[in-house]
Amino acid sequence: MADLYTQLMRMPVTSTVGKRIGLPQPVELDRGSSAVGGRVLLGGAGRLAEAAARVLAELRADSATALDDPVRELAARAGLDAAVFNPAAPADHRFKALVFDATGISTSAELVELQRFFHPTVGRLQRSGRVVVLGGERRALEGFTRSLGKELGPRGVTVNLVHVEEGAEERIGATLKFLLTPRSAYVSGQVIRVGTNKHKPVAGRTALVTGGSRGIGAAIADVLEREGAHVVRLDLADAELELDITTPDAPERLAERFADGLDILVHNAGVTKDRTLAKMPEDRWQSLMEVNLLAPERITEALVPVLRDEGRIVCVSSLSAIAGNAGQTNYATSKAGLLDLVTDIELDRGITINAVAPGFIETKMTAAMPVGVREVGRRLNSLRQGGLPVDVAETVAWLAGSGVDRNVVRVCGQSLLGA
Ligand code: NAD
Repeated sequence: MADLYTQLMRMPVTSTVGKRIGLPQPVELDRGSSAVGGRVLLGGAGRLAEAAARVLAELRADSATALDDPVRELAARAGLDAAVFNPAAPADHRFKALVFDATGISTSAELVELQRFFHPTVGRLQRSGRVVVLGGERRALEGFTRSLGKELGPRGVTVNLVHVEEGAEERIGATLKFLLTPRSAYVSGQVIRVGTNKHKPVAGRTALVTGGSRGIGAAIADVLEREGAHVVRLDLADAELELDITTPDAPERLAERFADGLDILVHNAGVTKDRTLAKMPEDRWQSLMEVNLLAPERITEALVPVLRDEGRIVCVSSLSAIAGNAGQTNYATSKAGLLDLVTDIELDRGITINAVAPGFIETKMTAAMPVGVREVGRRLNSLRQGGLPVDVAETVAWLAGSGVDRNVVRVCGQSLLGA
């Protein structure tokens, strides 16, 4: 259900007035489907074009509509150099997604290829469309994708950059499928790094989701179940596994409970205890730190030995960890501490660890904010609206299934905060 402002901006009279005075007009984002939902144009010439074409051909299989001709040609003749778009194509020749392989760009002079591919095509992107730039480590591409995300976001279009390690060309499938479909509705302006770890579907795997009885945690559990995982929801109450994660014996009890093995561990349980630092007593600081950081650290330590090979750990951090937020020194410290865990922990046996950093998500937590703060939070991003718990959940499910490792992915509609 869209928020009140968005509902008003979709009504004929208020929308006309809103447009005249320049108010943001949030579009309805596509969600739920695993199909691209339209034509895809693939361009650029580099080491990833062939692998990308193969992924697009696979996506076409479960996509209701056909992919664009050049892509079909590419898929058929795997290894072709580039798809050529004809600017003289009729105006109704529109695209749901544009994918550009920028790994062929080796000099700064060649960056003009970005302008050459996108200039004639961005205007043909449909609402809730997708742009994915595939590249090696080049900062120039980050400036480009982040700016394009801000230009196209108001139309519900997301723009993301995927750095693909040499030798990981065949590992882009899960990430490309996520970024090209409505599952990534609220992920934009991100730089994702794909390495050589294998994709491992979540179907048939056992997952533990802390704080799984409501809000974002319940959505994560639902999406993992939809993907075929056996999910254990842990929470203080109303859950299959009722446990306070801060109790001293919680790590040991969990290690016993999953002695037969665990595949996916999602640290989602979290609390806020906002107050400016001058008014923050130690017990208020520390009781939050126990839930948000110390318990996840202890539980991770206890559960890594029972995690099966190619196990997956996903931490739910927050945009506050990256941008900072007045009144949240305790919260931001704890959530940024989770990012340290993602960077520092030593893992082997193909186990990966990642974090999501949600921005403004429509939950009970954000519904309780003062109306002014809430409205600003909702609009200060490229998509001009808040995200939904399912947007965070889809991102967690992608991280739990792909081989992506040590990434921090913001689910924030390309929030202007901390960008
Ligand atoms: P929520 O309060 O609705 O859900 C949190 C769940 O964690 C609750 O069910 C609660 O009972 C459980 N929990 C709390 N302490 C626990 C403990 N000691 N042991 C076991 N379970 C415990 O919150 P939410 O909005 O769904 O947020 C989920 C996560 O996402 C949190 O970590 C939060 O910090 C993070 N987050 C939320 C937003 C947002 O906009 N809502 C933004 C950024 C990050």
